[in-house]
Amino acid sequence: MVSRRYKVVICKKCGHIQITYAEKCFQCFRCGELIKLDQSIILYETPNPSKAREKLVALKTEIQKLKREKQSIQDRNSRVWKSDGSN
Ligand SMILES: [Zn+2]
Repeated sequence: MVSRRYKVVICKKCGHIQITYAEKCFQCFRCGELIKLDQSIILYETPNPSKAREKLVALKTEIQKLKREKQSIQDRNSRVWKSDGSN
């Protein structure tokens, strides 16, 4: 039996994170881009599928957090602009 290597990979085009056990390239679920597997896009690699799943969830949560922080900075900036305009 051939043991599969599960990889948590990130799409270079849209930033979508997913699990693949492909060896050479994978197709992004979100944007459909066919992406060659190389070290720069493999975030985590394991023979254990549940570990890969765990890591995927952890990474997604982290990225959501980063996005929220970025969004709140943008919100602050846009509020400053709005208050300037209403004066
Ligand atoms: Zn994509």
